[in-house]
Amino acid sequence: MIGNYINNELVRVTSERTLPVTDPANGKVIDQVALSSVSDTEQAIAAAEEAWPTWSKMTPLNRARILFRYKALVEQNMDELAELISREHGKVHSDAVGELTRGLEVVEFACGIPHLQKGEHSRNVGGDVDSHSMMMPLGVCAGITPFNFPVMVPMWMFPIALATGNTFILKPSEKNPSVSLKLAALLVEAGLPSGVFNVVQGDKESVDVLLSDSRVKAVSFVGSTPIAEYIYSQGSANGKRVQALGGAKNHMVVMPDADLDQAVNALMGAAFGAAGERCMAISVVVAIGDEVADKLAKKLTARIRELRVGPGYGQSIENEMGPLITHDHMKKVSAYIDKGAAEGATLLVDGRDCSVPGYENGFYVGGTLFDDVTPDMTIYREEIFGPVLSMLRAKSLNEALELINQHEFGNGTAIFTADGQAARDFCDNVEVGMVGVNVPIPVPMAFHSFGGWKRSLFGPLHMHGNDGVRFFTRMKTVTTRWPKNQQQQADFVMPTMK
Ligand code: NAD
Repeated sequence: MIGNYINNELVRVTSERTLPVTDPANGKVIDQVALSSVSDTEQAIAAAEEAWPTWSKMTPLNRARILFRYKALVEQNMDELAELISREHGKVHSDAVGELTRGLEVVEFACGIPHLQKGEHSRNVGGDVDSHSMMMPLGVCAGITPFNFPVMVPMWMFPIALATGNTFILKPSEKNPSVSLKLAALLVEAGLPSGVFNVVQGDKESVDVLLSDSRVKAVSFVGSTPIAEYIYSQGSANGKRVQALGGAKNHMVVMPDADLDQAVNALMGAAFGAAGERCMAISVVVAIGDEVADKLAKKLTARIRELRVGPGYGQSIENEMGPLITHDHMKKVSAYIDKGAAEGATLLVDGRDCSVPGYENGFYVGGTLFDDVTPDMTIYREEIFGPVLSMLRAKSLNEALELINQHEFGNGTAIFTADGQAARDFCDNVEVGMVGVNVPIPVPMAFHSFGGWKRSLFGPLHMHGNDGVRFFTRMKTVTTRWPKNQQQQADFVMPTMK
């Protein structure tokens, strides 16, 4: 039974509610996860609150040193962690290592906290008056994370939260809960004091406690848009600071002057890597002109038919694409393919009925390609979160831009072109938070910030980078004067500096 991690030890969950954890590669139930009750969750909040005064007063340098040791430990345990990710999520081993690496980059960024949390200082803002700002921690912070990046997304949050002097409660996805316990154990091995980082397994019941308990000061969320909206509205109504990242429909525009082989390589990885279960996956390609569309359709069809689909672990030659997360999700993605065909899109490659020898009960959907998709179709409007690529045909870059800007999501997008001016226009005018120029998955590095626009993000601040530091701190500005014996007069006008 997978339980909680509170006060630096594994803790049994008192609730009777559980869910099976499945290996999606073969469909077998491999464990059970306990779903925390209100009191299980409150136990974690109490631990985090008790740890906060001491932790927040530790010097940033010493907090950073713990994170340095943590980084080394994650590196030493990389294979085991990747195996754990692959076993419960399904992604292939090298992709799991990639996820760990992107998470570690945030740890590296957070190791620079003595510099990042310096605040600002101005000498002589008035005669003999100085002013400085202090970036103070908030207290107990919570992170609620999705299944698709069980390490990277938590590591977008907690390294910065901890480095800035907060304590943290992670509520990971109930679909792949094990790796969070390993991350907690490594933090303890790195020297993290008791109660500073806690893990609560659970579902809506524990999330609602994190959203309502007044001891929790900030909530960082990543997941689907309806839940992001719920988290943002509930958390904000309860006076918390909230950032809630939601779903996506990421378009890649291919211009007539693009190198089409390069574009096809990019599309294969961006649409089918991690079986399309990435919030930055490309799920729509917009071909500019029929000639580009016809060539892309031909090249992509051939490549998708050759995709190596199978388990993410235990293979001498690694597969390119693993299974989807659950049986239900596999059915949902297949139903979208049914719908696309029914609504009149041209199904060029059909990933339904994908069977992997020896893994017949795994949750596989093969790479799927639709052509002639139009903006009114369900497969265009909704996030599918699977290996389904839709192609739309546009006559010009402006038409493509209009299409993208009208979509409700605005997470990531890319343009493939040899024309610098077209790329510049695209970057300036597209209403999307993360843009790639000849880069299909423009996930910002740890020292920049990650976040979408429109219904892909609720709240003003993005994840990690400077926004991450701002999210997990609040500003205090101190104005100081040390009078040199002169008598101060009572002054009844608004103070102005002279
Ligand atoms: P999800 O919304 O189902 O779950 C996310 C988290 O919310 C989980 O911890 C889950 O336990 C919790 N949750 C689920 N239902 C809840 C409810 N009713 N009340 C309170 N909490 C609830 O998302 P998922 O299926 O795990 O992840 C896939 C989604 O996440 C996709 O939509 C994807 O686009 C999105 N995602 C977005 C980003 C981004 O950066 N924008 C990154 C990764 C994933």
